[in-house]
Amino acid sequence: MIYDMLIIGSGPAGMTSAIYGLRANLKVALFEKSAPGGAMINTAKIENYPGYKSIDGVSLSMNMYQQVIDLGVDYYSREIEKIEKGDDKFKVFSDGEIFYSKTVIIATGTKNKKLSVENEEKFSGRGISWCAICDGNFFKNKIVAVVGGGNSALEEGMYLSGLAKKVYIIHRRDEFRASKRIVEEAMEKENIEFVYNTIVTGFFGSDKLEGLILKKLTSGNETILNVDGCFEYIGQEPNSNFVKGLNITNEKGYIMVDNNFETKIKGLFASGDIINKEFRQIATAVNDGAIAALSASRYCK
Ligand code: NAP
Repeated sequence: MIYDMLIIGSGPAGMTSAIYGLRANLKVALFEKSAPGGAMINTAKIENYPGYKSIDGVSLSMNMYQQVIDLGVDYYSREIEKIEKGDDKFKVFSDGEIFYSKTVIIATGTKNKKLSVENEEKFSGRGISWCAICDGNFFKNKIVAVVGGGNSALEEGMYLSGLAKKVYIIHRRDEFRASKRIVEEAMEKENIEFVYNTIVTGFFGSDKLEGLILKKLTSGNETILNVDGCFEYIGQEPNSNFVKGLNITNEKGYIMVDNNFETKIKGLFASGDIINKEFRQIATAVNDGAIAALSASRYCK
């Protein structure tokens, strides 16, 4: 099978590209290694995507997914290992098979960063989580900590405050990166307590997590905090290892593109959170995905 447009990643950027590609009558393949929706699917509540005053991430993901399936995309649940540029087509490698396409759009987004402190590995999945919507239910009426000071930490902290008895939000500074409105909303929750200027230096417990070791940055003092669960929301890193050989990323691993979302390799595009940009939102991913697909359609013709 030779495609006109092969999209890697089915978050909002990838799925928008698929919609535009299919409506331009192109033969489109969409590859995804986990569930459709990307980071969206792990988001409890979305309130800044036009058309929905409030929607949960799973529903928005499934709406987009159903739309691309109904339009006739070839959807593959598999991982891409490598991309090679041939004379007039790209070769895309997945699990011993090669797929050919005139254009490729990389929309693989980012993955959650880890704290990389003592015992994190040991208690990962045994109290430490990176997804409140997936694991929050395990902590009904229990005590949890959320680490981070960005939109994700505050939003998911609020989601957890509806399940847990108590939520500690532990932030390394005394100012938040999250938007003012979200911070104000979180501060109104009675069962959220903010712990400022503090980092987590380790985890402890027996067979499951029992607590955190904290260090106050202003004094250097170490304390322990007994919790049943800990959710890490300390930012993201790009899913771009599979394109390392192509020399299209910056020093942090984000893909460099021009105004048409094309990389320096003609016919190879990138969009959404994986590209080097300042604002990472569902709305900006959708914008990138549309422009990448329109540019790729023009390239095909
Ligand atoms: P983020 O905005 O990069 O925030 C990461 C937070 O973790 C920062 O507060 C940072 O502290 C802290 N941090 C980083 N490394 C740490 C470490 N080793 N130990 C302790 N704390 C650490 O990440 P995000 O919240 O995942 O958001 C990612 C992107 O998605 C952002 O662009 C965000 O705006 C967007 N997003 C938007 C929405 C929305 O619009 N509703 C929702 C979710 C995410 P410092 O502040 O000190 O650097």
